[in-house]
Amino acid sequence: MAGAALEALMTLQDHDTTLDQLRHRRDHLPEREQLAEAERQLADIDRTGAALGAQRDVVAQRQSEVEAQLAATEGRIAELDKRMYSGTVTASKDLQAMAEEVTHLKGRQSTLEDGVLEAMAEREPFDSELEALAAQRAELDARAETLLAAIAEAEVAIDAEIEAEMAARSSSSAPVPEALMAQYERLRQRLGGVGAARVEHGRCMGCHLDLSATEIDRLKHQGDDVVATCEQCGRILVP
Ligand SMILES: [Zn+2]
Repeated sequence: MAGAALEALMTLQDHDTTLDQLRHRRDHLPEREQLAEAERQLADIDRTGAALGAQRDVVAQRQSEVEAQLAATEGRIAELDKRMYSGTVTASKDLQAMAEEVTHLKGRQSTLEDGVLEAMAEREPFDSELEALAAQRAELDARAETLLAAIAEAEVAIDAEIEAEMAARSSSSAPVPEALMAQYERLRQRLGGVGAARVEHGRCMGCHLDLSATEIDRLKHQGDDVVATCEQCGRILVP
């Protein structure tokens, strides 16, 4: 194969290698893994938060029921007090019955007050744990946001490099004959992105194995229409 075509192919290979590296770098930005980790942690927090929230809601519901009963009891006591001291009830039998009811209601009031305090005490650890989770969540959210911005920024920078590299690649591909290009692309796909390799010091730089003396001799004297490939790895050899 004519030297110019092979040299152009080698330049093309260099651009392709750079492009592969750029795409790999774009796909494997460390921030992507960090973002995935932050998202896993956020999902954990949400699961824990939902479970705790449900437990807290049961206690809170009980608290508000007891509070409603307490309010009703206090209302009834106030109403009885008002009637007893209004002077409209005069029969001592009625007054005594009302006093007894007030005594009974005060006992109930005290029990309900204890119930409210108990529910509040039971609820407190849930509330503070949920508060801590919310703080953690906010922190992770901010972190995820920062990572997203860093990823976007890195993508813009890498995309600009890719674009420049693509332009350079397309101008270097012009002197490469179609059949050689097709052979190169097939090899590149099969051999980890490297379809053409230089020969340096009698060694194929694609697989880093020494070429045989016959092979080297053949390379030296090959005609312009022959494409030499490495005996070991099969890559197109560029002398
Ligand atoms: Zn080789």
